[in-house]
Amino acid sequence: MINKKYVKIGNSPSAIRDLFNYGLEQAKIVGPENVYDYSLGNPSIPAPAKVNETIKWLVDNVDPIKVHGYSAARGNDSFREAIANNLNKRFNLGANPDKICVTCGCIAALTATVMAITDGPDDEIVTIAPFFPAYYGVMGIPRCKLTIVPADFENFQINFDALEEKINEHTRGVIINSPNNPSGVVYTEDTIRKIAALLERKSKEYGYPIYIIADEPYRELVYGDAKVTCIPTIYDNTVVCYSWSKSLSLPGERIGYVCVPDKCENGDDLYWAVVGASSEIGSVCPPSLIQRVVEACIDEMPDLTAYDANRTLLYNSLTEIGYEMAKPDGAFYMLVKCPNGDAKAFSTRAKLEHNLLVVPTDSFGCPGYMRLSYCVSYDTIKNSIPAFKEMYEYYTK
Ligand code: PLP
Repeated sequence: MINKKYVKIGNSPSAIRDLFNYGLEQAKIVGPENVYDYSLGNPSIPAPAKVNETIKWLVDNVDPIKVHGYSAARGNDSFREAIANNLNKRFNLGANPDKICVTCGCIAALTATVMAITDGPDDEIVTIAPFFPAYYGVMGIPRCKLTIVPADFENFQINFDALEEKINEHTRGVIINSPNNPSGVVYTEDTIRKIAALLERKSKEYGYPIYIIADEPYRELVYGDAKVTCIPTIYDNTVVCYSWSKSLSLPGERIGYVCVPDKCENGDDLYWAVVGASSEIGSVCPPSLIQRVVEACIDEMPDLTAYDANRTLLYNSLTEIGYEMAKPDGAFYMLVKCPNGDAKAFSTRAKLEHNLLVVPTDSFGCPGYMRLSYCVSYDTIKNSIPAFKEMYEYYTK
């Protein structure tokens, strides 16, 4: 007997992938320079040079049996130490190498964390719209419920009345993703402090800790004066989920971690539950070579010059045309209001008329908007502006 649920999941179309594949096909017909593909969140800046240098050095100088052999199940000791040192040096976070679990990317980190703090279909994990739709899949194995807090359409911070309304005695955790996919918004320190105060009050009321799950793959992608608030320094019961997919441009290498800071309540049990869950989903003994590489590159930071130039060009050009959007201070996404109010119709027309590929964010809990992943070339952005202008005029004139 084949499990029908997984057949359906495995075989279901992805709107983002479909757009991306359409772009590849069109590029063969009209030329890649005439396709403006804002669909995928795949980094467009290369990993720092030290990454490739370290790979070459390891391959040439270290015993291949060790380089390619199994690592410790929860990650190499020296790697977990390097991660904890880096977090403590930069954020004074209270990270303990013995409470870090290395995972195969951030999705595995999120899945293991949700499995660790839930126990069946009555339990709820809260997410705040707009949110990354892969969270639905994250709830799949623990079979818990994803509770969605509607967006704050004013500035895409958090609608606190709506958040409070969604928290109840079944709530086990709240996912906070900042910088945010799809909005690019960075939650202010004031926003984080308000969430912390609300969750402290609610935890007391229900008599158990409601954890914050800080989903932070974009932590280092922040521009101008914006600052990413370190949530565990404000709310003790925070579990940090991270990967180097975006910060070091290594999404294909599948490397990340869960950090349970020392101040977390029930931290020992929580940590071992994460390790157990991580093993159950097969995110065990993460890639050995890449653990060694990231350990050597742990202090490397991305050069954001290209993303920042893209962000400025796209933001200035679209606002000049008349588009409205959330202030994009981080990640490499922009969340733009569709002038016709129907994002699917906008996306279809943009695709068919202009080879302009934009993602409707209905499935991100934010209908009427489109996500633009501006991790593309500067020329792609420059050349796409007339298409955005024609689309705007078509719907407004
Ligand atoms: N969380 C958010 C908000 C993301 O946007 C992504 C990837 O795009 C992930 C988690 C997953 O990261 P990874 O590719 O490291 O599993």
